[in-house]
Amino acid sequence: MAVLFRDFFYLDPEMDKALRGDVLVENDRIISIGKDLAFPDDGAEVVEGRGGRLLIPGFVNSHTHAAMTLLRGLGEELPLKEWLEERIWPVEAGLTAEHVYWGTRGAIIEMVSTGTTCFSDMYFEMDEVARAAVDTGARCCICRGLTGNDRKKIEEGIELFKKWDRKGNIRVMLGPHAPYTVSPETLKEIAVSAASLGAGVHFHFLEAQWELDYLKDSFGMGPALYLEKSGLLDTVSTVLAHCVWFPDEEIESLAGSPVTVVHNPSSNMKLGSGHAPLNEFIRGGIPVSLGTDGAASNNRLDLWGEMRLCSLIHKGFMKDPTVVGAREVFRMATVEGARSCGFESTGLIREGWQADLVVVDLEQPHYIGWSPENLPGFLVYAGSGSDVIGTMAAGRWLYRDGRFPGQDLHGIMKEISRCRQDLVSRFSSGR
Ligand SMILES: [Zn+2]
Repeated sequence: MAVLFRDFFYLDPEMDKALRGDVLVENDRIISIGKDLAFPDDGAEVVEGRGGRLLIPGFVNSHTHAAMTLLRGLGEELPLKEWLEERIWPVEAGLTAEHVYWGTRGAIIEMVSTGTTCFSDMYFEMDEVARAAVDTGARCCICRGLTGNDRKKIEEGIELFKKWDRKGNIRVMLGPHAPYTVSPETLKEIAVSAASLGAGVHFHFLEAQWELDYLKDSFGMGPALYLEKSGLLDTVSTVLAHCVWFPDEEIESLAGSPVTVVHNPSSNMKLGSGHAPLNEFIRGGIPVSLGTDGAASNNRLDLWGEMRLCSLIHKGFMKDPTVVGAREVFRMATVEGARSCGFESTGLIREGWQADLVVVDLEQPHYIGWSPENLPGFLVYAGSGSDVIGTMAAGRWLYRDGRFPGQDLHGIMKEISRCRQDLVSRFSSGR
């Protein structure tokens, strides 16, 4: 199957400016970019851009819990610890495989309609998340969230890796939940297993201020030493969600390590956790990607919102409009995210790379005045998810002109609301 995007603007690999030309996709890859490309074989689809449409790489939501769409709105406006202990964990205790499947299908609908082609998910019943991704064509990196010190759960994470890693568009990591839910010994065991499997590790780290005190009081260590001792700096890839309270003076110790920081600005702001030292991570050369976190703490799954907020909050808090620029933020939301999930040749519009592409409608009032040179600023500061009119992952349309090809939106919505009702009623009846 081939798709020719004819006379489109597209974002160059440096995310610096827009170029104009044709982009040819065959099967799952971009095979050619240039002027006046030859019309492909019979049966190919031609999409006309006429200079009013833009192709950008698909967004990567680098840290989420997709099925938390079913928990959206529960425990609003509570601090992290109370929110988790009183409202989220008791409800999650009633989650079934069916809930996770439909909650994830709902999340994928939201994400692809705003241009996200790939998500990195930590949750339970991960076979169902993989199944939802396969059934929709979305790309994902999954890990089983591990809490407690039960060896059985580690084995489940390893089994998940063996079963799904590199099957189609799926990658798998090991997913210890956080320093306060997993002991250092278990964490070490997970890190060693991950290193020997060649799997990455996805971990919540220093989301709230009390976690910093917890590391000091419980283990007598600062964050850098804790990461080193736990083995998380000896993996092929360690993805640390949040790092809001990572001390500035310890950031340089992460340089050259396998760590990527996932910045989740909306969730951090909404839970009152604070803001990560993003500019220090960038200046220290630590890779950063962007995530929404779960829908219960964001409450959107829209990377456009994260890009805008990310760029604005750091300028505001630092009283410096030159930091965290639009081009940088766009790279975090695309190619850096794909790399952090373990996908090679994904996240840029480049020949031979994966055809994870988003069509943006530039013929809207808020794009008046854009030019190929100023486009990144227009996208990050003026753009929104509603500008997306088409989303393709690995050469397959997942969203097009308000429709989800091959998916029964009405039927999916019915299943999601049934699961939500079921889940919340289990909680209120004390189960
Ligand atoms: Zn999270």
